[in-house]
Amino acid sequence: LAARALAGYRGPGRTRDGHVVQVLANVQDGAGARAAVDAHAEGVGLFRTELAFLGRAEEPSVEEQATGYADVLAAFPGRKVVVRTLDAGSDKPLAFATPPDEANPALGVRGLRVARRDPGLLERQLDAVAEAAERTASTPWVMAPMVATVPEAAGFAAAVRARGLVPGVMIEVPSAALHAERLLAHVDFLSIGTNDLSQYALAADRLSAELAELTDPWQPALLELVALTAAAGRRAGKPVGVCGEAAADPLLGCVLVGLGISSLSCATSAVAGSAPGCRPWTSPRASARRRRRWPPMTRRRPVRLPGERFPGDD
Ligand code: PEP
Ligand code: MG
Repeated sequence: LAARALAGYRGPGRTRDGHVVQVLANVQDGAGARAAVDAHAEGVGLFRTELAFLGRAEEPSVEEQATGYADVLAAFPGRKVVVRTLDAGSDKPLAFATPPDEANPALGVRGLRVARRDPGLLERQLDAVAEAAERTASTPWVMAPMVATVPEAAGFAAAVRARGLVPGVMIEVPSAALHAERLLAHVDFLSIGTNDLSQYALAADRLSAELAELTDPWQPALLELVALTAAAGRRAGKPVGVCGEAAADPLLGCVLVGLGISSLSCATSAVAGSAPGCRPWTSPRASARRRRRWPPMTRRRPVRLPGERFPGDD
């Protein structure tokens, strides 16, 4: 089963000079995860669990959640899968979790903050992830969205560890980026959500076309927050990835890797072109186009270190 599911796996993403950068996919269900396998993603860097429940009036049962989560985990046996707990609220309202009457939902009770009102919702979701992990004999990484403080990260990490899972938090709020090192005292990894981090750093609605220039992921202030976070990860010896759509831009991917980001996770449609894991190679003409457009660092085929073997070599 593992060999079949990983038939498309071509080894880790790597720059031409051998620097390893995981190229992962953002998915929302099992079908999406299987499409990511076909696109040669190395794993899942962001499983948006809330998207499957957007139209639902009632909270799904632990059993239903576990079945859905196991479907995603089963697509990547033995590979990294990062499950995000429900990011309810703001642009992703869930009827059973989101307060209906907030004046300012983007700054309101969204993401991990929902657990302040209803701790059981988070507990039940973590139980479902643990159940899915057991069914698929895997150890998913589990991260919380919209974390702003160290106590939030510490409480979440304790709940995740208690279930034998690997805890992390998203960096989407500037206060979390500024305190990345303190957060890393409690969690095992960080994942930067550039979509929201740019929204909150530049004080510009991510859904406003009129303000798109402010939420552009090339904004220097956003990149400084990324750099701060990556540096904290390096000091702590813990991975820091980017799972916002900034990771889908091949040129920006180079910048992120240069800042110390260790994995890039983006929409499956962009995985093949994501820097520096730009594969698979398609037509010679498309390859030539890419070579003209991308700087040499991203012009790469899967590179093998001396003696290295990839699954399927035999
Ligand atoms: C982000 O904010 O960058 C992110 C990846 O999460 P979402 O887009 O689902 O809010
Ligand atoms: Mg977000």
